[in-house]
Amino acid sequence: MATGLPVTRIVVVGGGFGGVYTALALEALQTSSRHLDVTLISRDNYLLITPLLFEAGSGILEPRHTICPIRPLLRRTRVIVAGATGIDLEKQIVHAMHEPGGHCYDVGYDQLVLAVGGVTNRTIIPGSEHAMVFKTLSDAICLRNQVIDVLEQANVETDSMRKKHLLTTVVIGAGLVGVELVGELTEFLRNICRTYENVRCEDFTVVLCEAGPVFLRELPPSLADFARRSLAKRGVDIRTNTPVAEITPNSVTLSNGTTISAAIILLCTGGAPNPLLAGLDLPKDHGRIIVDTTLNCLKRPEVWAIGDCAWIPSGDGKAYPQLAQHALREARVLARNITRRVQGQPLEPFVYQTMGALAALGHYSGVGRVMNIKVRGFLAWWIWRSYYLMQMPRWSRRLRIVIDWTVSLFFHNDVVKLVVESPAVRESAGKLPAVRSPEKN
Ligand SMILES: Cc1cc2nc3c(=O)[nH]c(=O)nc-3n(C[C@H](O)[C@H](O)[C@H](O)COP(=O)(O)OP(=O)(O)OC[C@H]3O[C@@H](n4cnc5c(N)ncnc54)[C@H](O)[C@@H]3O)c2cc1C
Repeated sequence: MATGLPVTRIVVVGGGFGGVYTALALEALQTSSRHLDVTLISRDNYLLITPLLFEAGSGILEPRHTICPIRPLLRRTRVIVAGATGIDLEKQIVHAMHEPGGHCYDVGYDQLVLAVGGVTNRTIIPGSEHAMVFKTLSDAICLRNQVIDVLEQANVETDSMRKKHLLTTVVIGAGLVGVELVGELTEFLRNICRTYENVRCEDFTVVLCEAGPVFLRELPPSLADFARRSLAKRGVDIRTNTPVAEITPNSVTLSNGTTISAAIILLCTGGAPNPLLAGLDLPKDHGRIIVDTTLNCLKRPEVWAIGDCAWIPSGDGKAYPQLAQHALREARVLARNITRRVQGQPLEPFVYQTMGALAALGHYSGVGRVMNIKVRGFLAWWIWRSYYLMQMPRWSRRLRIVIDWTVSLFFHNDVVKLVVESPAVRESAGKLPAVRSPEKN
């Protein structure tokens, strides 16, 4: 249907919660007219439901079931699978590349939505490049492979020191991601160690280090305390006020001089700004783009930002937290505001009162606050699962997740490593240097 409005080219950069939900909302807003020409530039052709990533890592969920393909979701949006490499704010062009060294695209825009999220912060601790991170689907698959790999080695290891090293994991950062990861990891280890005749559950050491005094700062103290006691009961060595001074490929050195020899080191120290934003001449706070309450950039009315890459004023002088539940609601307001801008109508502010926060602790337990009601144990775990199941956009995906969860109730996790190397890499594996043993100290 013709509206009399000229066609507006909207380019959304980033295919996470913010970007995909913006494109979805824009499609819903123009059911009968075609005056919005929407392009989504995304590195991956799927949306990752990050809260389900822990279970992809432990094998409870088939990794593919924690993602939703973007194309069937977005019927009227042009999807370009590429990484944005730069943005020319003057000429209003996004430069993108299919893959490093691959095909390049220049995509012009009238309205630009930045929804590129963040990256794991590797700037705080020297040697962070040696640690594993936990943000993408491949991170989850790599962690699972690494856990299975150390178990395979520990099962045949005769040197007790090396075996201890193999079975030690250090997780750095006791926020939501670090705590949930440890919860799921302890469940996974308990479950799969029965497969190995020479490894007992008590042989594992999991150390959770937090630089500050507060454990699980996202939740009220009584709930954080419940989570802390649950993990401690499973043998997790929780150390608050314990900054990590350095990470090496085989160890973690704490600021008090103690060195922990560990085969798996995981960095959960929060997010850092996406490098794409560094080159943009826009007002920023700690690298995040400052927008006003309507999600519009301060200096450029044609640029908008949401999600983890944006600093959105919450009314109390602080920014809204970097959470999925916020990003997808910001996306709906942003889509309406772009449409209003095009139609010359006043914009609406983004106002959202959080529904709460939940953390799954593995072993069918969880903890959280929902509408100011505190929940713990099985109930919290059940609410957590149900809520995030509904965040998965399509029923076909939801059904697969429910089947995976049901199967996991009756059967043990499998111990299959998912090989992701190309045949060439596998063939050259015999020529690679052997894995280094930990330094004895
Ligand atoms: C393990 C984990 C668990 C979490 N659990 C919860 C939870 O339980 N509840 C909750 O509310 N929040 C949770 N979060 C936080 C939540 O995932 C984020 O707040 C949310 O994803 C932010 O959405 P976003 O769209 O801003 O960024 P993202 O979802 O990170 O999406 C950004 C997208 O942009 C893409 N991208 C980046 N750079 C480029 C580029 N140059 N070109 C093209 N594309 C690019 C990325 O590949 C990604 O697809 C969790 C996060 C993690 C890592």
